[in-house]
Amino acid sequence: MDLGIAGKVALVTAGSRGLGRATALALAGEGVRVMLSGRDASTLAATRSQVEAVGVEVDVRAGDVTDPGEPARLVGATVERFGGLDIVVANAGGPPPGRALDLSDEALDAALNANLMTSVRLVREALPHMRAAGWGRICCITSYTVKQPAPVLALSNTARTGLWAWIKTAAQDLAAESSGITLNMICPGPHATDRMKELGGAGVMGDPADFGSVVAFVCSAQAGSLNGSAVVVDGGSTLAL
Ligand code: NAD
Repeated sequence: MDLGIAGKVALVTAGSRGLGRATALALAGEGVRVMLSGRDASTLAATRSQVEAVGVEVDVRAGDVTDPGEPARLVGATVERFGGLDIVVANAGGPPPGRALDLSDEALDAALNANLMTSVRLVREALPHMRAAGWGRICCITSYTVKQPAPVLALSNTARTGLWAWIKTAAQDLAAESSGITLNMICPGPHATDRMKELGGAGVMGDPADFGSVVAFVCSAQAGSLNGSAVVVDGGSTLAL
């Protein structure tokens, strides 16, 4: 199936490893030009080579996407390099584990900044360019925990459900203005990435490449009616309806 996005421009944040990298590779496989962000320049350079090998134009920018000024800098750099911005995959590292009653104000503030506000800022910066083009696809990578809170991931549960409420509301506004722009969240269950190893994950894990293909479809020309959705990619492990 041709997803109809060849030649489009995507910004994939936190894209040097894991689910972000897999998504960048899936988009590149569809002929999408890619701007990758990540914190570590050498990891980014290695990922750049992998994506370039698919046969598309790639650029990278090292920086911390959770720095409040970085989304504007990233969007500006993407538009300057590629002449536009059609697709945003808003991703950031997950917060540390912790139980709800143990959380400090500082820990909550950091999680809300990284896993709620960073996506809001990326959407805000990208929208003028997408509105000008009359087309756009935005996917925020979150977690299955928006459907089924995990006991030891209180920070993730809290920040990401706040983002889910914001996305659901903003997606209605985008539909009302017939913008041609969709805004969805993609909610991974356990996948075999470095993050999972750090958390000591075990059991059945999804393949990050398959996850990337799901995100690419949500960014496709054909997915124009998929808006304000939380797409759970978890192999069926989440029990919430
Ligand atoms: P990962 O740790 O394997 O990779 C994350 C990548 O993002 C790395 O390249 C890292 O350098 C980069 N990164 C992290 N913080 C960044 C920042 N502040 N600025 C720029 N780059 C940054 O993680 P992953 O498994 O790919 O997870 C991606 C997201 O999906 C996380 O938010 C995670 O919590 C969530 N998630 C993952 C799983 C899973 O099973 N892998 C399950 C549920 C949710």
